[in-house]
Order: sequence, then structure tokens, then C-alpha cells
Amino acid sequence: MNNPVSSRSATARLIDGKAIAREVKAEVRTIVDRMVAQGRRPPGLAVVMVGDNPASAVYVRNKRLACTECGIHSVAIDMPQSTSEVELLVRIDALNTDESIDGILVQLPLPEHIRQTEVVERIDPRKDVDGFHPYNIGRLAERNPLIRPCTPYGVVRMLDHIGVSVKGRHCVIVGASNIVGRPMSLELLLVGATTTVTHRFTTDLEHRVRDAEILVAAAGKPGLIKGEWIRPGAVVVDVGINRLDSGKLCGDVEFAEAVKRAAWISPVPGGVGPMTVAMLMQNTLEAALRR
Ligand code: NAD
Repeated sequence: MNNPVSSRSATARLIDGKAIAREVKAEVRTIVDRMVAQGRRPPGLAVVMVGDNPASAVYVRNKRLACTECGIHSVAIDMPQSTSEVELLVRIDALNTDESIDGILVQLPLPEHIRQTEVVERIDPRKDVDGFHPYNIGRLAERNPLIRPCTPYGVVRMLDHIGVSVKGRHCVIVGASNIVGRPMSLELLLVGATTTVTHRFTTDLEHRVRDAEILVAAAGKPGLIKGEWIRPGAVVVDVGINRLDSGKLCGDVEFAEAVKRAAWISPVPGGVGPMTVAMLMQNTLEAALRR
């Protein structure tokens, strides 16, 4: 097991999220193939998209492609921007009782006239493969997870893959959203980390970050985390996905400087992004196996 702080190096090692995601998907594929060989139906995932948000369309396409890679049966439900909340809820009710569907994913954000909370809470928690339902968040908070939010679950899997020991370490999370920062803190607590969660009202971000043995950045602000703030030998996981005016994608951490100080760092793109999709496949498989 690596001790993140003592394994200091001149240049950080890259956490190759793409490769780890490939490994997760291959494991899922093996189990799905075995299910099918035993005469069972493959897991089924319904991916619901309302409207035509271009960023969402890219995410949805990637999720559907991953289903094909894993042998998961994917059902595409594309609804127009004008869909009412009631129409969407009726669709979710039908998917909740559909025996061929193990997982339901409603791509967020939804159009403004649809209340996100109503929609997320309508999904049967056993089919909530995004892990956003209050029941699933509650299970994670109680240290008895059922379905775990994909991005934090993916980060934990990445840390495990590179052999970093998290127990007792000081992990600092930048961002406290319902889908990344908060469940990330619960995941890290689950594996015995000491956690600090920072957010937009945190007044001494630099000081908090400098103290991080493991840093998870998820604010959605390019360059928010200065490279020189990184504690030498730290592990840096950059969840942020920001598109610059040049069209280039980048994370929240100043990569060029941070890479000189960290022991490990995840790149953007090619870090947490592919892991999120892989863990969605894992969640769908687990939901199918449980049913
Ligand atoms: P969000 O906007 O819902 O939450 C951002 C959080 O950052 C908030 O809690 C806010 O308080 C905090 N924040 C803002 N400014 C801050 C500051 N100056 N200091 C400290 N905290 C600050 O965003 P989100 O949905 O959690 O996503 C965060 C980022 O992660 C985005 O770039 C998003 O695209 C990315 N993301 C990536 C993946 C992936 O698979 N890699 C998945 C989800 C989100």
C-alpha cells in the first residue's frame, strides 16, 4: 500500500481512468456473458433524456455505447423539451414496473419546468442506478450502501486501483453538491478517511487544500486549485470538467504545476469521466443481480 505523502516524486504518476474503466467494463461483460449463457436475460438499462441539451446528448450517447460494450440491453427513451412533469412521471412509473428493466437513468439537468426532486424520488430505489434517490444516499450515509452515486463510487475505485491507502488520511473535497461532493465525503468516510468538505462559502480554500493528503476537486471552476497549493506527494483526483473558450477540456486543478508536486494525479479528460460511465454499468449489473 502506498503512503501518499511519503511517496514523493518529481512528476506525478497519472491515474489512467480510461484504462481502469475498461477493466471495470470487462468485468461487467464477463458476468453478463455468464448470465446469458445460463439462459438469463441480460441486464436492462433505460436511459431517459428530455430535451436536446447538447452536453447531455454526449453523455447519453457514451452511456448507451458503454451498454453495448458490456452486453447490457439499453433502452433509449428520448422525450421532447415540451414534455410535462406528469408525462415524465408516468413514463418512470411504467419503467418501475417493467420486468425487463433493472436500471433507470434520467439524464440531468431536466428542463426548468420539471422538478428534479419529484423525478428522482419517483424512481424505484432498487432501479436508481445513478444512486441519487434519497433512499440510496441515506443507505450510504448509514454505512450500508445499496446503489452508490457513480462518480464518487468511481473515484473510490480509482484510489483502490492505484493501491493508495485512504484509511486515516486527510481527504479534502472541493465542492459539496448532491451528486459529487456530498456523496464523495460519505464514500471516503466509509473507507476510514478523515474528511474536510469545502464549498463556495469556504473562506480559506488554499489552507484546506495545502493540508490535503488526498484531494478531490469537484467545483466546476477551471484553475480554481493552484498547482502550488498541492501538498508534495498528495493524490489529486480532478472531477471537474470545464470547456475553455478554445474548446479544450480541463479540470479544476492547474495541472501543469500540480503534476510537479503530486504523487498521483488524474487527468481531464481521461480521468474520472470514463469511470463514472463504467460504474453506471457496474450499478446496472448489481441491480439486475439483486432482482
Ligand atoms: P455543482 O455546480 O452542482 O457544485 C459545485 C460545488 O462547488 C458547489 O458545492 C459549490 O459550493 C462548490 N464551489 C464553487 N465555487 C467554489 C469555490 N470557490 N471554492 C470551493 N467550492 C466551490 O457541480 P457538480 O455537479 O458537483 O459538478 C462539479 C464539476 O464536476 C463540474 O465541472 C462537472 O462538470 C464535473 N462532473 C464531472 C463528472 C465526471 O464524471 N467526471 C460527473 C459529475 C460532475
